[in-house]
Amino acid sequence: MSPLPAFDASDPLGIDDLLGDEDRAVRDTVRSWAADRVLPHIAEWYENGELPGIRELARELGSLGALGMPLTGYGCAGASAVQYGLACLELEAADSGIRSLVSVQGSLAMYAIHRFGSEEQRQRWLPAMAAGEVIGCFGLTEPDHGSDPAGMRTRARRDGGDWVLTGRKMWITNGSVAGVAVVWARTDEGVRGFVVPTDAPGFSAPEIKHKWSLRASVTSELVLDEVRLPADAVLPEVSGLRGPLSCLNHARYGIVWGAMGAARSCFESALGYAKEREQFGRPVAGFQLTQAKLADMAVELHKGILLAHHLGRRMDAGRLRPEQVSFGKLNNVREAMEICRTARTVLGANGISLEYPVMRHATNLESVLTYEGTVEMHQLVLGKALTGLDAFRG
Ligand SMILES: Cc1cc2nc3c(=O)[nH]c(=O)nc-3n(C[C@H](O)[C@H](O)[C@H](O)COP(=O)(O)OP(=O)(O)OC[C@H]3O[C@@H](n4cnc5c(N)ncnc54)[C@H](O)[C@@H]3O)c2cc1C
Repeated sequence: MSPLPAFDASDPLGIDDLLGDEDRAVRDTVRSWAADRVLPHIAEWYENGELPGIRELARELGSLGALGMPLTGYGCAGASAVQYGLACLELEAADSGIRSLVSVQGSLAMYAIHRFGSEEQRQRWLPAMAAGEVIGCFGLTEPDHGSDPAGMRTRARRDGGDWVLTGRKMWITNGSVAGVAVVWARTDEGVRGFVVPTDAPGFSAPEIKHKWSLRASVTSELVLDEVRLPADAVLPEVSGLRGPLSCLNHARYGIVWGAMGAARSCFESALGYAKEREQFGRPVAGFQLTQAKLADMAVELHKGILLAHHLGRRMDAGRLRPEQVSFGKLNNVREAMEICRTARTVLGANGISLEYPVMRHATNLESVLTYEGTVEMHQLVLGKALTGLDAFRG
């Protein structure tokens, strides 16, 4: 019998054994890009509430193949769902804002055009978006309609052969830097998606400031003031909320992985700090209470990564149900927040400093808990699946 492999504190369950060489190559490439291009600057970007050089970052992510990664054709990488997940984890280990840029570009804007667009729309937008030359955004949420988008007020009316869009979208990632917006609007035929070039007259995207979460991410309002679009601006292959909801399902799959990246960064920070920091004549890692925290954090971190792998394999096999994605998002974001909070205590006062990544991740995860379906929405999705009773309306 061959000897047991040594215990690896960075991979206590041996999850690495589940990966193939290509998976490891994707993971390592994205990790080293983030270490080089994001980690040295992220605290400053976060403190200043900006993501300078976002266009350059997008082009670099494009050349890594990270934009629209699991999509096929049109310059997309055609990677597996597991590889896409590994990339999300590594990006979010740097910052949730960077992972959000990639999720919105690939899983929301590009996915919508790829899945529901015409061949002309795909040819026009996807290669440039995969290369990061054009940034996309996805406008579903409105000031008065978040969890329940069925009530949306943004309207598209026919005028001769054209469509005319009027309304407002709120909390839209990448909005002010986007060259194209996928906007969902009410029409006489139900909710439809529109591909809106952001230089169309009547379109504007003022940036939302004063956020205390996802500060290194562009978040905007979209204002559509009688935006006139040609007949072929509508996404032809879908009508109804099924369109945006299936895009969101795809994006929240990436969050299942991403949240564990933020958690890993906090765990590593806490473990390293606890081994260095001495109180009462010994490293704080030597106290039982600290070890209990580290053990519990490691258990939830690696359970969450294992869950992400499981869902990724199901997605690759075409067997992943939306309720299973809700299961993953609900668990992994909630547990990531708990890990960050516990890591914060291990670092003592230093835990609140931007010198360490912990508080930044913890505040970012407040947004991640809310967007792509709030924690309550995912509880209701699972509640309905478990009981057969719909509790969304009471
Ligand atoms: C940083 C950031 C980026 C975002 N990016 C985008 C983007 O790119 N595109 C986009 O379209 N949107 C985006 N969003 C919006 C996000 O998807 C919404 O915030 C989210 O859907 C929740 O909507 P809401 O904020 O209006 O909260 P509400 O829907 O008003 O909910 C408020 C509270 O009530 C609870 N609640 C609502 N209904 C029920 C119910 N039936 N039962 C129990 N509880 C309920 C919610 O869970 C929540 O706790 C972003 C948000 C943030 C913070």
